[in-house]
Amino acid sequence: MDGERNEHRVGDVVIRIHRRACMGHGDCMAVAPGVFAFGEDGIATVRADAADPGAERLALACAVCPEAALEAIGPDGLPLRPSR
Ligand code: SF4
Repeated sequence: MDGERNEHRVGDVVIRIHRRACMGHGDCMAVAPGVFAFGEDGIATVRADAADPGAERLALACAVCPEAALEAIGPDGLPLRPSR
């Protein structure tokens, strides 16, 4: 973690947030409100009390980010893509 790229584990998935890329649109929170929230600086973060919605929803929440600021990494270390 270097301050610009944060990683958070949610269930079996690692969420990587590219903080410089986040523009605060909130799309990720609309898809997974139990996982993502805005930090005090207005940048997306993973909630401390995040509830695992499953890999598919995490992958979708990352895929909808219009700034490509989010990555969902599966247990095999490869990026997860939503199936639809
Ligand atoms: S959808 Fe992307 S740009 Fe918008 S708040 Fe989430 S991470 Fe930031």
